[in-house]
Amino acid sequence: MKIAVVGTGYVGLVTGTCFAETGNRVTCVDIDQSKVNRLTNGEITIYEPGLEKLFLRNLKEQRLHFTTDLAAGIADATIVFLALPTPPGEDGSADLKYILGVADELGKIMTDYKVIVDKSTVPVGTADKVKDAICRNYTGEFDVVSNPEFLREGVAVDDFMKPDRVVIGTSSDRAKKIMGDLYAPFVRQGNPVLFMDERSAELTKYAANSFLATKISFMNEIAQLCERMGANVDMVRRGIGSDERIGKRFLFPGIGYGGSCFPKDVKALIHSAEQMDYDFKILYAVEKVNAHQKLHLVSKIQDYFNHQISGKHFAIWGLAFKPNTDDIREAPALEIIETLLQLGASISVFDPEAMKNVQQLMGNKLNYADNMYAALNNADALIIATEWSEFRTPDFEQMKANLKAKIIFDGRNLFEKEWMLQEGFEYLSIGRP
Ligand code: NAD
Repeated sequence: MKIAVVGTGYVGLVTGTCFAETGNRVTCVDIDQSKVNRLTNGEITIYEPGLEKLFLRNLKEQRLHFTTDLAAGIADATIVFLALPTPPGEDGSADLKYILGVADELGKIMTDYKVIVDKSTVPVGTADKVKDAICRNYTGEFDVVSNPEFLREGVAVDDFMKPDRVVIGTSSDRAKKIMGDLYAPFVRQGNPVLFMDERSAELTKYAANSFLATKISFMNEIAQLCERMGANVDMVRRGIGSDERIGKRFLFPGIGYGGSCFPKDVKALIHSAEQMDYDFKILYAVEKVNAHQKLHLVSKIQDYFNHQISGKHFAIWGLAFKPNTDDIREAPALEIIETLLQLGASISVFDPEAMKNVQQLMGNKLNYADNMYAALNNADALIIATEWSEFRTPDFEQMKANLKAKIIFDGRNLFEKEWMLQEGFEYLSIGRP
């Protein structure tokens, strides 16, 4: 099949590459000329495990192309994916200017039947708006499909190639057949392709992300109780996770959810509900808990140092909003850093993949260490903000030699407390007595 993917970011590049991998001819369109140049020249623009190999193979096989020219990019495509940003507007609503702007353009340049697919996370009713925008300038046949994306950064290629489910919202049999054929190679193991109406598909994505954010905030509240009651959240987590109705995954407390999706999608669903005169009460609380949890570690640090943070030097391990990505959008580490800097601390940081992005954002406000141990030099404490695998079994002797004081504030509960005490650290983590 011939496919165009408009927007070549975390979702668009993975989508385009994975569809090329199953034999389709894919053209990725982006307005960012330098990104398109880099990709055309075989330089990958994001860090995502496993992606580079597939990207280079499909580029070489000429199944994957990049352009800034929308008209040329979609000319012979049967399916056009929109993988464009939907950032929060000032009122929390999803800003549709990128989606509707491109839809308007499509209406001006389409000459034959195409399936236009909303891959971006968009509020209920967007498929209709996209349809209207195209219809303003185009009178031929086309369909608009809602096909929300559930990939997780860090395991995006695996998620895309072996999805738990594919959701396709359409009322058109023609589009249903085309989308079903496109996804057939990805669901050979029997994972479901769920066909539904456009509105249900649009809401499914927000419901999924909001539910997951709720799970995180719930566990963070349990962790808060554990700290006050002398219980251990690791035990409570295992205790409830063994119940099949609850499940083991997504029960880890920490320093709050971040990233480009959960914060914006929770906000957008709250806003959509308000527009329908409905207060989504749980989600207000989910946001409030998260805002508090993001600074919980800073409160611990302040308590420990009797609010004398000025002049202290901290090491931070982990900057990305989660491991295995270079994405720092809404990363909790950044909020911790900003707060400590405001309190007069100085900071050395290390992250295996996200250093370049943080450097672009924060410049010389931070010291960027060459490796995880160099970050510890002369630090009054280590703060762990992202659970990268390489932080899990570090060289404790090296850590003790480099740190000025053997104190660790662990926002991701990487270590057993007893073990750290035996190693001679003072160790403060989340939700443990
Ligand atoms: P991104 O910011 O990484 O990428 C968006 C890309 O669109 C950028 O490369 C940008 O240059 C390009 N762009 C902007 N305007 C354009 C235009 N007019 N024409 C062509 N290209 C244009 O965003 P992302 O993380 O890939 O997210 C895209 C959508 O997918 C969002 O709605 C997001 O909520 C959703 N989503 C993201 C994830 C994720 O993990 N990142 C997962 C599921 C769904």
